[in-house]
Amino acid sequence: MRTQVAIIGGGPSGLLLSQLLMRAGISTVVLERQTRDYVLGRIRAGVLERGAVEMLHRAGCGARLAREGIAHEGCNLSTVNGMFRVDFQARVGEAVTVYGQTEVTQDLYAAQDAAGAVIFHEALNVALHDLEGSAPWVSYEKDGQSHRIDCDYIAGCDGFHGISRQSIPAEKRTEYERVYPFGWLGVLSRTAPAAEELIYANHPRGFALASMRNPTLSRYYIQVPLSDNVEGWSDHAFWDELKRRLPADVAESMETGPAIEKSIAPLRSFVAEPLRWGRLFLVGDAAHIVPPTGAKGLNLAASDVHYLFEALQGAILERDDAALDQYAPRALKRIWGAMRFSWWMTSILHRFPGQSDFDQKIQESELLQLETLESAQVTMARNYTGLPY
Ligand SMILES: Cc1cc2nc3c(=O)[nH]c(=O)nc-3n(C[C@H](O)[C@H](O)[C@H](O)COP(=O)(O)OP(=O)(O)OC[C@H]3O[C@@H](n4cnc5c(N)ncnc54)[C@H](O)[C@@H]3O)c2cc1C
Repeated sequence: MRTQVAIIGGGPSGLLLSQLLMRAGISTVVLERQTRDYVLGRIRAGVLERGAVEMLHRAGCGARLAREGIAHEGCNLSTVNGMFRVDFQARVGEAVTVYGQTEVTQDLYAAQDAAGAVIFHEALNVALHDLEGSAPWVSYEKDGQSHRIDCDYIAGCDGFHGISRQSIPAEKRTEYERVYPFGWLGVLSRTAPAAEELIYANHPRGFALASMRNPTLSRYYIQVPLSDNVEGWSDHAFWDELKRRLPADVAESMETGPAIEKSIAPLRSFVAEPLRWGRLFLVGDAAHIVPPTGAKGLNLAASDVHYLFEALQGAILERDDAALDQYAPRALKRIWGAMRFSWWMTSILHRFPGQSDFDQKIQESELLQLETLESAQVTMARNYTGLPY
């Protein structure tokens, strides 16, 4: 088989890139290790920046998002001294959109189906070859048969555990990493959200987040030790702990119900460079991971796709190879901006094991500045709603 761009990974980055390229008349093949149902069932992100929303419209799959996405013009931060709101609209004239990653993925698959996209699920043992030459190719197995795809470029959209990043020689890679000493226990429930906007809580018992997907689907998180496991947390114990960390009035009136999904996610900041190796380009979680505190993972995947789409269009449609050199520097500038913001949000909102009284006072002072200084709110709102592309 031959295609112009082989895309490894059929998650949000891979599908969005494929959709944009196909609409520009560039051929793609997507290889995904899992089944489609598995990909569609993964409960993950839920907050979209304007840039990500615009990308989905550009890809021709924004109709349902426009109908069902909920605009949030601010968010709440709860501290030991009470709760305050950062008004994004007032501070920077922007908003974010609440719309689940599962819905984004579903819309992208629907658009890809309509466009006649070639997507192979359960593609196993994917391997990348001749990346540094002018004729790279990809091998994989499906249903016990070996296959080969010749291509001009390869987009590594296969997430943190994929093979694309590993295909760059280890001695040529630099990995920047911070692993946080706690995780997030998340619960999805078919209940009305606790509040109209998100509540980020800094509490002596640990961080909590009251979030949502839509008016009848809520997503909650609490900070837990990495040694905890999901089996150790009954629904009752989860709700009990969450309520202790949220403001009393919110906790009293909030609706609880059975968890329809419950999982623990470790928190990590990670960037791998280079983003380009010959004809391979790393995109989204394959190149970087942020702790979810800043709601940036899916949004960074969308901006990476934007930069790579422009680079590939330049190279393929205008025969301008120099356009490819622009991908990494443009994407990395935004990646590090989101890294800093996600790290900062994590550092001011969580209780760190061994946190000293000094650390505690600094954290309180950060939150007080955010509550009382307009300039601090402008910086927070600018980053939360998304740095410009
Ligand atoms: C619990 C949790 C909460 C999150 N919350 C938020 C949030 O609030 N806001 C936000 O913006 N982001 C959030 N994120 C991050 C967001 O979900 C990711 O950044 C996003 O999924 C990245 O998309 P991707 O397509 O780059 O990678 P992925 O979604 O990981 O997709 C990669 C795909 O590649 C496939 N694959 C892997 N290896 C191979 C292989 N060898 N061959 C073929 N295919 C392969 C995988 O099966 C997968 O389908 C969250 C993540 C988690 C885990």
